[in-house]
Amino acid sequence: MDVLLEAGRDGRCFTYLDNKNLGVDLGDLVLVRLKGRALHGLVVARRRHSYEAITDMKESSRTLLGIEALVQSAAVDPIWRDWVNSVAVSCYVSPYKMIKAALPAGWLGQAKKLTDEAKSLWWIQLNPEATNFEALTDRQTELMNFLKSRGGGGWQKDISLDGFCSSVVKGLVKSGAAFRHKKKVLENTSRAEVDEILENKKELTKEQEDAVEIYEAQQQGSAILLWGVTGSGKTEVYLHLAARELEEGRHCLILAPEIGLIPQLVDRFRGRFGKIVFEYHSGCSDRERVRTWRLALKSQSPLVIVGTRSAVFIPLSPLGLIVVDEEHDTSYKQESPMPCYNARELAVERAKWFGSKVVLGSATPSLLTWKNLCPQGPLRLARLTSRISRQPLPPVRVVDMRQELAAGHRRLISRPLIQRLRGLPERGEQAVMLVPRRGYSGFLSCRSCGEVVQCPHCDVALTVHLTNKSNYSLRCHWCGYRTNKESTCTNCGSSAFKPFGAGTQRVMETLSRELEGLRLMRFDRDSTGGRDGHRRLLSRFAAGEADVLVGTQMLSKGMDLPRVTLAIVLAADGLLHRPDLQAEEQTLQLLLQLAGRAGRGDLPGEVLVQTYCPEHPVIQHLVDGRYEEFLKKEADLRRESGLVPYSRACILRLAGESATLTASAASVLSEQIRPLCNQAGWEMIGPAPAMIPKVAGRNRWQLLLHGPELSSLPLPDGSTLWDSLPRGVTLSVDPDPIQL
Ligand code: ADP
Ligand code: ZN
Ligand code: ZN
Repeated sequence: MDVLLEAGRDGRCFTYLDNKNLGVDLGDLVLVRLKGRALHGLVVARRRHSYEAITDMKESSRTLLGIEALVQSAAVDPIWRDWVNSVAVSCYVSPYKMIKAALPAGWLGQAKKLTDEAKSLWWIQLNPEATNFEALTDRQTELMNFLKSRGGGGWQKDISLDGFCSSVVKGLVKSGAAFRHKKKVLENTSRAEVDEILENKKELTKEQEDAVEIYEAQQQGSAILLWGVTGSGKTEVYLHLAARELEEGRHCLILAPEIGLIPQLVDRFRGRFGKIVFEYHSGCSDRERVRTWRLALKSQSPLVIVGTRSAVFIPLSPLGLIVVDEEHDTSYKQESPMPCYNARELAVERAKWFGSKVVLGSATPSLLTWKNLCPQGPLRLARLTSRISRQPLPPVRVVDMRQELAAGHRRLISRPLIQRLRGLPERGEQAVMLVPRRGYSGFLSCRSCGEVVQCPHCDVALTVHLTNKSNYSLRCHWCGYRTNKESTCTNCGSSAFKPFGAGTQRVMETLSRELEGLRLMRFDRDSTGGRDGHRRLLSRFAAGEADVLVGTQMLSKGMDLPRVTLAIVLAADGLLHRPDLQAEEQTLQLLLQLAGRAGRGDLPGEVLVQTYCPEHPVIQHLVDGRYEEFLKKEADLRRESGLVPYSRACILRLAGESATLTASAASVLSEQIRPLCNQAGWEMIGPAPAMIPKVAGRNRWQLLLHGPELSSLPLPDGSTLWDSLPRGVTLSVDPDPIQL
């Protein structure tokens, strides 16, 4: 018997022989020769072949070269290997791409540099004040978006690893859109510090004890939903469960949807378990992530790792507990680049492979998770119904913006809100204000009655597509319907339509104009760059540096600020009418989460929501706080219409610089898939231009596939889909997409 290996580099796979019996295995970094050059390759598969098979190959003139040396051993266990391979299959990526996505970024080709890396490195950070991006090149814009997706900043060497050359970085810095400065690489744990602050376990409440019992009674490989309002003691339950697993010698993995939620979780876990707690997320340096990964591989004693979605791959074994905190959060899903995985689903799958137990925690569980509860599904429920502090959830006050308009008040900020904000500073209280993220503003609404321009065929808002600076067309993202004629409101006949929405910046300007003296602070991706950006900004706000914190979705998550008595939603409509079938579910989750931010301390809180649609079910359920009622109704609706999660979907995204090539590739692709769809009872919608049809100079098209629940995707195996693509056009497959 001999062993064959495929060593891949830049996504291409080559086969080599392990003729020196190095015992190389999946994930190992090896030295090979390719066209005479010495290169590092990543081992992505291992095959056993009989002696005859090899001689056959040699005779067919494919002389296989041997592997020269083992550079670095990844030493993954067979279960991990099989699991990651199965994930590759479900995500439609090659084993190479999958394992590359799973391994820490610094693993590949960096073996030497990682060890002698300096303590202080170049850090590129977006300039939150920059406003003029017109002079930027496409590559510079891409870099800017890349940095944004990484929380506003990144190490220069990581940036270059991701394919941006130094001239792009220099150009961006020169334009004023970013800064470049030396920054210290933070180390994972400062051991001396944490050893002293170990805090004791709390006596659990009855409900918490019940939750622990339910967990204990569960079989390995299964999952429970821990459903409790904010402040009901979920984190305390995680800590108890982790303590039990650690006592048994098993590792624990704690996942949070966003980097901004990591610090407080790490603080709680370090406070309880000290130096065995490690972080793993994009705010860590490559070196730190590689170190944590290695530690996970070789640690004799159990560890706790707290991280974002990529941490789901850390090769901890034996793995006892996986917590998926805020399980409803869509940030668990990676949309691009491929593999488009959802860390929540992977956690559940991983638990089955590794015999671990999963705890999905949320105050507002996703419809999918709720649907999987016993007895319909396999998921057991543990509920925490009351807050530890006994503070009731704050009441919700709805400001009807139509009435404001009728009274001649056309401004972004209603009169009741202005009044409420005026009184804030003298009472020493604070507010948080949610301004829906940019890009959610692409729909038209009637300024007189609030009616949103909807697709005549679907129950979704039409999106505005700018054709040039002043003209737009309206499109249904779901069925492809399009129109460009200006019409009158079907509800009231008015012709006063306006694209909706206002960015954080515009809101800040308006606020400071209308409420002089009110101190404002901005909290969004642009202002919280860097590893401790969130924490720093929040602690400045907590220290009273501002009266109002204005921010995007990030605001609603996890922060605990005792002086915040008011949570404001500036334009709920911007969230309600997204052209997305799951917009309502996600909006109610977000608003309830935000409501949980007000009145955490001794002072009673209030939630104030400005909207043109006070009668909207989401607003109604926000007011009455009956989330499960909402889920029931929503589930009925989706079941009747055969929508997700009572069906499956998949989006194929194409992008290319040439508009015609991309469009024709989309149509070729659709013809390729159509027979498979027909056979499998799937429906194909499109090809159609993507919601944002052009990004950074690339034209984007998409195909939406829609089929029966639990069926497999009607796509050919392997790389067939990519084989027929013209040069310069890329394709990504997103199974079970978050946005539909
Ligand atoms: P959640 O994660 O659901 O928001 P936490 O676990 O953070 O809730 O609990 C909210 C607050 O109540 C925290 O300050 C926590 O320390 C405290 N707490 C939680 N459980 C208990 C308990 N059993 N006894 C006393 N205090 C508790
Ligand atoms: Zn439609
Ligand atoms: Zn109208």
